[in-house]
Amino acid sequence: MKVIDHIKQAKETLISFEVLPPLKGKGIEALYKHLDPLMEFKPSFINVTYHRSEHIFKKRADGSFEKVVIRKRPGTESICAAIMNKYNVDTVPHLICGGFNINETEDALINLRYLGIDNVLVLRGDAAKNETTFDAEPGGHRYASELLKQVTNLNAGIYLEEDLKSTQKTEFCIGVAGYPEKHFEAPNMQTDLRYLKEKVDCGADYIVTQMFFDNEKFYAFVKSCREAGITVPIIPGLKPIYNKKQLTVLPKTFHIDLPAELANEVLKCKTDLEVEEIGKEWLLAQSKDLKKNGVPVLHYYTLGKPHMVADVVRQLL
Ligand code: FAD
Repeated sequence: MKVIDHIKQAKETLISFEVLPPLKGKGIEALYKHLDPLMEFKPSFINVTYHRSEHIFKKRADGSFEKVVIRKRPGTESICAAIMNKYNVDTVPHLICGGFNINETEDALINLRYLGIDNVLVLRGDAAKNETTFDAEPGGHRYASELLKQVTNLNAGIYLEEDLKSTQKTEFCIGVAGYPEKHFEAPNMQTDLRYLKEKVDCGADYIVTQMFFDNEKFYAFVKSCREAGITVPIIPGLKPIYNKKQLTVLPKTFHIDLPAELANEVLKCKTDLEVEEIGKEWLLAQSKDLKKNGVPVLHYYTLGKPHMVADVVRQLL
């Protein structure tokens, strides 16, 4: 079922989770172990992230270096199918522009359709590791909005080969990313919102946000979106904080702020277990407030901490 239909049919705030595919060389069992404690909350859908290839330099015996392409977490599409099969829950694979040309993107979408997957979260992706700016693949997309147009074309039965006849239309429900604290490359919020509106005008059904720790920033973002004429549902993305390092890692990696009150409480902690308790309290307070304010879905980035998310959701429901 499509994410947008889950939202339309819902009488109250829904729950969804986001997971990463296993590291190459690891089995799927660890992922099931991660998801098992979360399934009692009957998530409406589970997102699976996409991780592009990286280039590394391997030293040869003669001392020279060889450029090698590695992919640490392959298998987004098949992980989605496995989760659907095991738990009978809808999944949302993330699909990125980076590393794909348009033919490969079309093949990926056709595969998703064969697997019975109705949803995609359409993203640009970040710059490849060791590179400073995002560069599109030759013959690939530069922005999420371009990728989105390819998906809506397929939804209209328009494939890349123009002379294909009697084509089957795909029926993907399309999500896109939004940034309550602005995308880090955008010169200002207004420009970022203009491009977000472009994604919605191109056919995005809903927006899911970057994580944030201050609900007021989310409410201000929703207000600005509505003022800009963006009417689709906006799903808040939430993540627990669980160690002190995150006080610097999260702002650096995701270009977000951590409120002083939260940062001060974390700094007082002597162990990571104490930080987890603070993280859970903060996430629960955020979740309760968002639910009270009628958000359509609470989307949790579970990322290695399913027990923390489970403790929070149990107290929320
Ligand atoms: P876009 O919407 O293309 O925007 C990128 C930048 O370009 C923005 O600054 C925007 O303002 C600007 N822009 C947009 N359109 C135009 C235009 N036409 N002309 C000029 N400028 C323009 N990354 C992964 O690799 N894998 C994942 O699984 C993944 N999941 C994510 C899930 C969520 C919910 C979020 C919020 C992010 C996720 N990301 C993921 C990270 C994401 O790929 C990066 O944040 C990336 O830098 C931007 O992606 P986007 O889809 O928002 O890009």
